[in-house]
Amino acid sequence: MLSVLDLPRELYLIVCTHLQPTDLARLAGVSRDHYLAAQEPLYTSITLTSYGRFVKLVDTLRRVPVVSTISPQQRLRWFKLTDAQLRERDIKHLHIILDNREDGYRITGATLSNCIGAVARKCYSVKIHLTLYGAWPKWIPQLERFGLPNVTKLTLFLGGAELEPGRTWRGSDESPLWNLVFSGSSFSDLKDVYINTRAYHPGDLPSSLRESIHGAHPVRDYVWTKPHESTSDNVVPFYGLRKMEQIVLAHTPHLTLDIMQSLFGSDIIPQNLTKLEIVNCASLHPVKHLPAIATLLQRALQLVKHLKLHLCKLSHFDNDDDHSDLATQYAAHIDQHPAEHHCNIVRELGTRIQYLDLALPFACAKIFPPAQKSWQALAAPRDYPTFPREPVETLPARLMAQGYKYRRLISWHGVCRGTHKWHDMRETSSNMQQEGVSWVLVSPNQADTWQMPGCLAVEQLANEELLRVFTEEERWA
Ligand SMILES: [Zn+2]
Ligand SMILES: [Zn+2]
Repeated sequence: MLSVLDLPRELYLIVCTHLQPTDLARLAGVSRDHYLAAQEPLYTSITLTSYGRFVKLVDTLRRVPVVSTISPQQRLRWFKLTDAQLRERDIKHLHIILDNREDGYRITGATLSNCIGAVARKCYSVKIHLTLYGAWPKWIPQLERFGLPNVTKLTLFLGGAELEPGRTWRGSDESPLWNLVFSGSSFSDLKDVYINTRAYHPGDLPSSLRESIHGAHPVRDYVWTKPHESTSDNVVPFYGLRKMEQIVLAHTPHLTLDIMQSLFGSDIIPQNLTKLEIVNCASLHPVKHLPAIATLLQRALQLVKHLKLHLCKLSHFDNDDDHSDLATQYAAHIDQHPAEHHCNIVRELGTRIQYLDLALPFACAKIFPPAQKSWQALAAPRDYPTFPREPVETLPARLMAQGYKYRRLISWHGVCRGTHKWHDMRETSSNMQQEGVSWVLVSPNQADTWQMPGCLAVEQLANEELLRVFTEEERWA
C-alpha cells in the first residue's frame, strides 16, 4: 500500500501544509519514519495559547528527537536529506497568546524573555507574534530591561487593569507601555503593532461603528483639559518607529498628547510604515488637539497606503464643555490656522493614498479637489455605477482590487463653520469627479452617499453605515 512517505519530499511537505496540527501529530505517531518525516512540518508554524505549552516547547527544542534515524528503505526515497536535516526543528512562525487571568501569576519579564530568547537562538529566522490579554501590571514595566528578539508582531489587549486596583500601570507617571513598544530596545525586530487598552480580548471588541463610538471614554488620569500639557521627561525617543510597518491604536485612551508628539511629531520618521489606524482614542480631543491631529495627518498622508483616523464624537466631552462652545472654538481655530484645517490637509496631501477612512468632528466641501471638468463634461449624461455596492463590507477591498482609491468620510457634527449644508457635500463630490477615487460620505441622520467617478451618487438610508454589523476584520479597529 502506498503512503505519503512514497511521495517526493517536496510533495510530502505540501500535503502536510493542508493538515491540521493535531492530524499531523497523529501521523507522526504512526512509525519512526513518519515521526522523523513530520518533524519539519510539525514545527514550521506553531500557535501556543498558554505559558505551560510555551515552556514545554522550549524544553523540546533543546532536546534531540527520540528517533534519530529513518529506515534504510525511506533513506532510498529521500536520499538527499540527511538525518540531521530531518531532525531539524526549525520554527518559522510562532504565535504565542498569553492570558493574564490564566498565567498572570507565574510569568515575569525575565521568564518570557528567556523563553523567547531560547527559541530565537535555536530558530534564528523565526518570526514571533506575541499576543497578550489583560493588564499585566507587574511585568509590562519589567520587560523594558529585557530583550525580546524576533518578535515581529505584537498584539496587546490591555483592558481590565481596573481589576487590580493596587497594581495598575494606568495611574503611573511613567510611560512604560509606549517606551516598551516603540523605543526599539526591547522589541528590536518589531514591525507590526496592535494596541487596545480598553478591551480584555477580541471578544470585547465593538460590533458596529456606533458601538465603537460609545465604547470610548477618556481616562481620568490623563485629563485632556489639564492646563499644562508638558511633554513628559520619561518618554524616550521612539527609535523603534523606523522599523514599523503597521500600527493600530484602537480604543487606547493612553494615547495622550505627548505620546502623539513622540509618535508622529518628532524627527524620527517611520519610513516603512504602510498602515496606520488611530480609532476612538479618547484622550485625543478632536477640537482642542487640532494642531497635533494636523501634524499627524500631514505626516501620515505622505507616508502610508492605508490610513484610518477616527476621532471621538464631541458628546464624550460634554461634561466639560458644551457643543456650541467647541464648534465656535473649532471655527475660530481653522480661521486663524487654515493650515491646520483637516479638510485643507486632506485635499492637498490626500490624493496619493489608497485607503483613507476619516471620522472627524466637522468636514466641509474643501476636502474635495476643485472640479476640473468642463461644463460639457459635467453636463454629460450619467448613470448609476455598474460596480456592485453589495456586499458593503467588502466594498473597499473590491474597489482597491480594481485599482480604485477608497475614501470614507464621517462627519460627526456636520459642516465646518456651518458654511454650507451637508447636502452640498454630495453635490461637490459628484462634480469634482476625481479620477479613480470612490467616496463614501456619512453624517449621522443624513442619507449615506456613495460616489463613483463618472457616475450618479448612490444614496442609502440614514445611519446605515453606523449601524451595520462589522465583519470580524472591521471589529479589530
Ligand atoms: Zn471579555
Ligand atoms: Zn472643513
